[in-house]
Amino acid sequence: MCVPGFYERARQRTRHSHMQIESIRQRLRGLGALPIHEQRVLRDWLQALPHDRGRRRPDDFLPKPLRAALPAIDEELRSIVRLISSHSTDDTSARLLVGLADGQTIESVLLPRGGVCVSSQVGCAVGCQFCMTGRSGLIRQVSSGEIVAQVALARTIRPVRKVVFMGMGEPAHNLDNVMDAIALLGTEGNIGHKNLVFSTVGDPRVFERLPQALVKPALALSLHTTKPALRELLLPRAPRMTPSELVELGERYARLTHHPVQYQWTLLDGVNDGDDEIDGIVALLKDKYAVLNMIPYNTIPDLRFRRPSWDKAQHIARVLHGRSVLTKLRDSAGQDVDGGCGQLRARAAGSGAQ
Ligand code: SF4
Repeated sequence: MCVPGFYERARQRTRHSHMQIESIRQRLRGLGALPIHEQRVLRDWLQALPHDRGRRRPDDFLPKPLRAALPAIDEELRSIVRLISSHSTDDTSARLLVGLADGQTIESVLLPRGGVCVSSQVGCAVGCQFCMTGRSGLIRQVSSGEIVAQVALARTIRPVRKVVFMGMGEPAHNLDNVMDAIALLGTEGNIGHKNLVFSTVGDPRVFERLPQALVKPALALSLHTTKPALRELLLPRAPRMTPSELVELGERYARLTHHPVQYQWTLLDGVNDGDDEIDGIVALLKDKYAVLNMIPYNTIPDLRFRRPSWDKAQHIARVLHGRSVLTKLRDSAGQDVDGGCGQLRARAAGSGAQ
């Protein structure tokens, strides 16, 4: 019997719709699923559990229509995204080029210690000057189903205990889908709430929405400079919030959730690595419930920014530590997602490998 695909039917409903978590739930309910059945199907998918339908479990008494449709649904959920290629950056990290059903591509990154970095948009409208993704502008939103499918895909490769929303895109510009994905990952996806990391350049809507959510993720704020005018140059289409406004709101959220805020700082040679910035960071972050993640920029041939020397980066991190700012200096190629994301996709597009 040829049953039209779950995904295909959802696509046909509206030309521009991509798989949303809610449409998956509605489909399951339409087949008679109770909440416990819905949980089981979603959990098996998100945790990449083997198809183990033969074993009797209390929730095996599925409604007949659902039981009949389950193999096709499983298959369709597992093909919302597909792995196009994997590029190991070192022993513990790998960049994944991921294909979507309409032919678009995004990147996910497997990080050390069971982390995965997911993309929330194809392209990005913020236009950070040092980022490849920002150059293409926003192409489309990544649906909630496509976001969680990146985690399910990563789990077919290795265990995942942490999900960071630091891949392509600005999660605040796709807030409904990202929050739906977070809600599911923090429940059926079995990811601890503090291990879900919402990364943003800062947007007032984030500070209104996240405190209301049942699953409250940790927050990463892209700071990059303490100088308002320089920040406007580096992040030209980020909401106009000053670094001190950002830190004030971040601190309030950290105290509410007991998750320290991670401030992201891409170190750019001669741009934001001077003594004045060190003083500015100390003034902003000393005694805050926060950690500063410094990532020396990975030079991209087409862009004008340069990577500072490792010695200089170490010196800055040491000085900040000495002045009571908890600073982590990172140099994993797999973790340079803030500035490096989009390169794989751009290369693939250039070579026609879509
Ligand atoms: Fe968008 Fe992030 Fe790139 Fe900035 S760094 S343009 S927010 S993807």
